[in-house]
Amino acid sequence: MVRFTVLASGSRGNSTVISGGRTRILVDAGLSCRELFRRMKLAGEDPRTLDAIVITHEHQDHVNGLAVTARKLGIPVYFTEATHRAWVRWMSPRRQMTYAQWLELRRQQAAQPTAAPAAEPDGQPTPADAPEAIACEQPTDAATDAVANPEPEPARSTAKEPGKGPASDPADDPAWLPSVEYFAAGQPFAIGDFQVSPFTIPHDAADPVGFVFRIEGVKMGFATDLGYIPPNVKAQLTGVDLLLLESNHDLEMLRDGPYPWSVKQRVLSRVGHLSNEAASSFLENEYDGQAAYVILAHLSENNNLPELARVAAEQALSGRATLLANKLLLATQNEPLSSVYF
Ligand SMILES: [Zn+2]
Ligand SMILES: [Zn+2]
Repeated sequence: MVRFTVLASGSRGNSTVISGGRTRILVDAGLSCRELFRRMKLAGEDPRTLDAIVITHEHQDHVNGLAVTARKLGIPVYFTEATHRAWVRWMSPRRQMTYAQWLELRRQQAAQPTAAPAAEPDGQPTPADAPEAIACEQPTDAATDAVANPEPEPARSTAKEPGKGPASDPADDPAWLPSVEYFAAGQPFAIGDFQVSPFTIPHDAADPVGFVFRIEGVKMGFATDLGYIPPNVKAQLTGVDLLLLESNHDLEMLRDGPYPWSVKQRVLSRVGHLSNEAASSFLENEYDGQAAYVILAHLSENNNLPELARVAAEQALSGRATLLANKLLLATQNEPLSSVYF
């Protein structure tokens, strides 16, 4: 059974958990670890069973709880190299370190013969503008034990390449992760039973991606944080059984709304966010209508109303919703969306 649960969606945090086969992955970790665990529990998902975290891009609403969550669970994080680099810079604002210097530091640390790092200590120092200064609660005692007594996986903990494997002393490095794996847009890869196809999206981040996930014969398209829908994205989103698509703002609300002009320009730009109108235009003119579920996501709380997004999409799908296809759902910021099953 395949299960797709949006835990949160919007400019204050994005995270989705997808499970199938023997694998469970988290797409983005934009909530605090504590809140992520709370919402997973609400949704009936056990955080301890997560196998990996995959990251779309380094904006705060997608990585807020990343370091703490990955450390607590001891699981690998999949980034593009440029996104990882941007995230490291963001996590180390006071170091004024170039990426090359950081890699050199990693090399030196990796060369030191030290034991595998212990679990993240509570109260670990974090950079001044890092989002999370406290460690999150464990979902159960068993998980606490699992994290307090990590069983290092040799392939991960002994990795010596730059950007892979742990630094010798995680307490010294706010960007320390138990394991980092790189992928590249356009190059499909596997996480457990999942086939993951990352594709480039137009957005003002270092190397932002959307994803197509395939598992148990189910294909799921995942595209938020994009200024427009270029041909490569349209191609990726064909034949999907589930389409998660950004419907960020209503154009009029954004124009008349409270944001400064510079921010409005950024949102509206070719590397900003998809409007209701742009999402609808895609649904009406280019989408093949094959998905069982269409989930509107990353709705702005300031420049959109759920009803506006819903009505625009409903009109665009006009009449194509049936018992088997195009059921329209809206992901929200403040609570998990009911799970979708295949
Ligand atoms: Zn973004
Ligand atoms: Zn975002």
